[in-house]
Amino acid sequence: MITDKLDRPFRDLRISVTDRCNFRCTYCMPAEIYGDSYKFLPKPDLLTFEEIVRITKIFVGLGAEKVRLTGGEPLVRRQIENLVRELTQVSGLADIAMTTNGYMLAEKALLLKNSGLHRVTVSLDTLDEDVFMKMNGRGIGPKRILEGIDAAERAGLVPIKINSVVQKGTNDEGIIQLARYFKDKGHTVRFIEYMDVGNLNGWQLEQVLSGNEIAEIIDAKMPLEPVSGDYRGEVASRYRYRDGSAEIGIITSVTKPFCGDCTRLRLSPEGKIYTCLFATGGTDLRGPIRSGCSDEEIRAIIERIWLVRDDRYSEQRASMTAPMQNKVEMYHIGG
Ligand code: SAM
Ligand code: SF4
Ligand code: SF4
Repeated sequence: MITDKLDRPFRDLRISVTDRCNFRCTYCMPAEIYGDSYKFLPKPDLLTFEEIVRITKIFVGLGAEKVRLTGGEPLVRRQIENLVRELTQVSGLADIAMTTNGYMLAEKALLLKNSGLHRVTVSLDTLDEDVFMKMNGRGIGPKRILEGIDAAERAGLVPIKINSVVQKGTNDEGIIQLARYFKDKGHTVRFIEYMDVGNLNGWQLEQVLSGNEIAEIIDAKMPLEPVSGDYRGEVASRYRYRDGSAEIGIITSVTKPFCGDCTRLRLSPEGKIYTCLFATGGTDLRGPIRSGCSDEEIRAIIERIWLVRDDRYSEQRASMTAPMQNKVEMYHIGG
């Protein structure tokens, strides 16, 4: 096991398999910026599945136990199920999960399960038809995503989590509706404080509804009690409904940062590793891999990066006098 400068072990790897997405969520890839002429990464720049698997094996050798496939939208990467299948062959990997917007889940859930995916987290910010259509920037209603979630449940991609980014004045009025729907289904909704990731979503602190406020809103209608976090690196504050029906999580990266327990490393579609969601730069692994470096040499690069890691952006945010420039975009490294 390796630990960084702040004594944090390395445990979780998030692999962003594409920078493309079929949605244009206003807080992630605003449609006015990511229009038809936007140049996404060309195919030769993307890591191949073979390269991703090779890198994953090296990461597992360094202590990674969990892998999460993300993006962009992971289901738009062609034959992503083949990558899942290959990852199941990596010994020592205990958990293979995916975060998806759910748009293609109804058609893909069974195939993903049969390929060895363990579970999915589906992003769904609200059940309000009009608000959701606006938030995803594509005029898509929530029905199709709900069908995807049902298909994932039938296929056994469980436990299912639902991610909802809460923006004050945008979807906060739908918190109860969303919470109630998934309480009845027994799935865990994770309400995420709107974050200042990237540089393009025009984030303002006034748009953040705090985790405390979110918990109060839900507790007033459906009483909650706290559940203690079960492992180091758990990012959500967990609550259960007092009637025992389900849990919720609240991710308070703005009002109660959890950098002290951050055990994650992120791999971008073109093979750079990022030690923080708010990093301004990454370290290239694709170049070394394509120029013939051995596994030991790649391993040494990763080790060096982790050993000097001292990121704690969310804890420092409040004391910054000006917004940080040139942060990596969320759709690039997958959240
Ligand atoms: N496309 C997939 C999806 O939306 O689930 C995976 C990638 S997406 C970047 C991963 C997660 O990041 C999603 O749950 C999304 O809601 C969240 N996210 C994106 N921008 C965010 C922001 N500014 N603040 C908080 N969460 C954000
Ligand atoms: Fe796409 Fe996910 Fe970003 Fe929405 S949050 S634009 S679905 S990558
Ligand atoms: Fe981890 Fe960076 Fe987020 Fe802190 S700000 S929890 S170090 S990703």
